[in-house]
Amino acid sequence: YMFGQKKATEVAHLVWKLVVQKGDTVVDATCGNGNDTVALAKLVVDDFAKGCVYGMDVQEDAIQNTSSLLNLSLDPNQRKCVKLYSICHSRMVDVIPENSSVRLVAFNLGYLPGGDKGIITNSATTLLALKAAKELLLPGGVISVVAYVGHPGGREEYETVQAFASELPAERWVCSQIQMLNKPLAPVLVFLFKR
Ligand code: SAM
Repeated sequence: YMFGQKKATEVAHLVWKLVVQKGDTVVDATCGNGNDTVALAKLVVDDFAKGCVYGMDVQEDAIQNTSSLLNLSLDPNQRKCVKLYSICHSRMVDVIPENSSVRLVAFNLGYLPGGDKGIITNSATTLLALKAAKELLLPGGVISVVAYVGHPGGREEYETVQAFASELPAERWVCSQIQMLNKPLAPVLVFLFKR
């Protein structure tokens, strides 16, 4: 990928590292198997258990997988700083307290690897979730989206994300994307930085 041979998700993690700090509140809008949730927890939770990750997924299986990976990867004090919910990300404001000062909202769209490919993110709820994320985000924060264009419905969903980003006012948002020009079905990374 852009930085050597890294996968799209690894490139996203590099960008997160530039934006988030210990003690921040961040959101994983698509927990899946928990790899992103763990990466986020390691970035924001400090030795005094400050910092907070809200994770969500529509699938209870995904929440279980994420919970197990967190238990293996974090010490118990840090584990307490991650809150998991089996809900649709379009409802994120129901679980994230008002005035939470969210630094980053991460989306890794599509289906659960190794799971039911029928349970998949879709344009309508992804758009609602992006709108919710936009309101929760702090100035200086970022919405990070990994969008898959190789599976049915994926391109349409990516185009929804792209259209949403394209319409944000340039004086308040810096919207960019990373895509592989010589590999058109590779995942596309979209970043929405709030000024
Ligand atoms: N971030 C994960 C990881 O590191 O393992 C991978 C995420 S996977 C590509 C996408 C996930 O989105 C699936 O687990 C799926 O259940 C979930 N999902 C699908 N629709 C959703 C929705 N409306 N709200 C929240 N999660 C959803």
